[in-house]
This record gives sequence, structure tokens and C-alpha cells, in this order.
Amino acid sequence: MNNVLLQTKNLSKIYTDDRKSIVKAVNDITLQIYQGETFGLVGESGCGKSTFGQMLVNLLEPTKGEILFEGEDIFKSRRARKEIPQKIQMIFQDPYSSLNPKRKIGWLLEESLDIHRKNLSKEQRIKIVDEMLELVGLDESYKDRYPSQLSGGQRQRVSIAIALILKPKFVVCDEAVSALDVSVQAQILNLLHDLQEKFNLTYLFISHNLNVVSYMSDRIGIMYLGSIVELGDAVTLSKNPIHPYTKMLFSSSMNVGEADSGKIQITGELPSPSNPPSGCTFHTRCAYCTELCSSARPELQELPDGRQIACHYAQKFYQESMEKKQ
Ligand code: ADP
Ligand code: MG
Repeated sequence: MNNVLLQTKNLSKIYTDDRKSIVKAVNDITLQIYQGETFGLVGESGCGKSTFGQMLVNLLEPTKGEILFEGEDIFKSRRARKEIPQKIQMIFQDPYSSLNPKRKIGWLLEESLDIHRKNLSKEQRIKIVDEMLELVGLDESYKDRYPSQLSGGQRQRVSIAIALILKPKFVVCDEAVSALDVSVQAQILNLLHDLQEKFNLTYLFISHNLNVVSYMSDRIGIMYLGSIVELGDAVTLSKNPIHPYTKMLFSSSMNVGEADSGKIQITGELPSPSNPPSGCTFHTRCAYCTELCSSARPELQELPDGRQIACHYAQKFYQESMEKKQ
């Protein structure tokens, strides 16, 4: 049985700037994230991944829609102000700018215990900090160092320790390894995986790198210009992508041997999110585009294998893929 831990309902974020131009960064996203899973969110830069993640951790206010955590609205419920924020944490891309350079690692780790666990004694706090450091593979000596004295990988270990010190249930990892060397990336991904098992964590794993997302995720949502275009089991999607955009992403990430081969390199330019195409927003880059695609927006629909997809020709493409298999 899968228990839903977090769900969004018609979640949207529209940015407006001074000149009144608007960007629909996140457009009507409804999805469920299950207890204990890693849900990967992937798409080109600018498609709204960080905006979506930041709304879940309450760093950004949605323009419209709801976010339910354990069935309760994270903005309106009684637990919303005190308990829920501690249960949802975030790990950012850039451990260089997310750690206060003027503070030692020990201080940075103790900070949230000082705020949220006031009844702990100093000794108890120190014990928790030491245990947390050990869990992320750093010894006690790191407490007296400043962020600038650490490597990128070590800093990201500290960021993970800070995110986990209040024992959250749900962690948003936003490009958590994108700033790191490839060899260090693998270590941090494995650490995140081990910690997930140890603490029964649920992850929203955001990345523009499809290889990284495929490696980490149980299910994947493919995002394009603020919307989910295909969502399903990670293995199903990678073995048999149906949406023309998902196909494009997977075929462009196959160039094994390139430094960042999972990085999305696809043809055509990403349209401006402040002036998105009519109908299916992908139609301007789609090889199968028809008149219908440029005029009507496709709704997310479910296919027989359980995946969701927003494409007018989803059934046809699905049938064709099944025939090819036989
Ligand atoms: P991603 O994380 O997928 O790269 P973002 O969520 O950062 O995408 O951005 C989605 C869109 O919203 C982009 O077009 C971006 O330029 C725009 N955007 C992001 N933050 C702001 C902001 N604070 N004000 C106006 N536009 C923004
Ligand atoms: Mg981002």
C-alpha cells in the first residue's frame, strides 16, 4: 500500500514584474508523492522546477492551488506554522552560497536546534550535532572549521546534515549535486540514498540532469514550461518514453562518455515562459505537431500502464510502442 505523504492540487505560481509582464512559472500542477519514495522532477532550465520545490518548503507563496502534507494544508492547518515546516526541508544546489561563511560548521548545525529544540541541554545538542556529522561522513573536527575551509562535496555534506538535523520526513533536493565534480556527485547521491533508508525519508529530487534523476528516482515527472507533460514509474519512462518531449530528453541523454551527458541538449529553442505557445506548449518543437496541437491544450490522461501524459496523440503513440514490442 502506498501512502500519500505530500500532494499538490492545481498548484500555480505566476511571477509579475514591474512592467506588468507575467511568467507562468508553474501552471496547474496536481500530483502525489508517496511516503518513502524518491520523486524525480526533470526538465530544461527555466521550466519551473525550483519554483515548484520552493513552494513545497514554504519559501514561495503559490498564486493558486493547495499543498497538502499528511493530508493537511501547509498554509492553513493548525500544524502549519509550527510542526509542518520542520518536517519539510530543502537541500540547495550551491553549498557555497547557502552556508553562512562567517559561522563555523558546529554553529551552523546547532542553529536550528537552538530555535526549534529549546528544551535540549547544551550537552544533548552537542551529541546530536556530532552524530549528525558522523552520519554524513564528517568527523567532529569539522565543527571548528569555516565553510571556506571545506571542499564542495564536504560543504554539501554539511548542508545535508543541516537539512536533516530536525528529523524531517520530506526533503526537497534542488540540483543538490549539479555544482559538484562527477566523482563527488556519485558519493553524495549514495549518501542521500543511504540516509533515505536509515530515516525513511521521502525525496523530491529536482535536476536538469536526466541520468542523475533516473538513477535516484522511483517515479519521474517530466516538466515543460511550467507543466507536467509525462509522469510515471522511472523504469517505464526510461524504457518506453511516450511523450515526444520525454523521447527527446531520453535520446539526448544517451551520449555516454560526455562529461555531463545527462544534461538536456535538445533541438529548437525553449519558448519564453512569459509568452508561451498556444495549445500544447511543446507544439513549436514537436515533430508530430498537427493543427489540433497548436490550438487545444492537452489534459493529463492516464495510459493503461498507469503513467500520466499530456499529449493529444498519447493513445496512438502508446499503441504504436506496444506493437513495436511484439
Ligand atoms: P528551473 O528551476 O526549472 O530552472 P525556475 O523555477 O527557476 O526554473 O524558473 C521558472 C521561470 O520563472 C523562469 O522563466 C524564470 O526566469 C522565472 N522566474 C524565476 N524566479 C523568478 C522571480 N523571482 N521573478 C520573476 N521570474 C522568475
Ligand atoms: Mg532551478
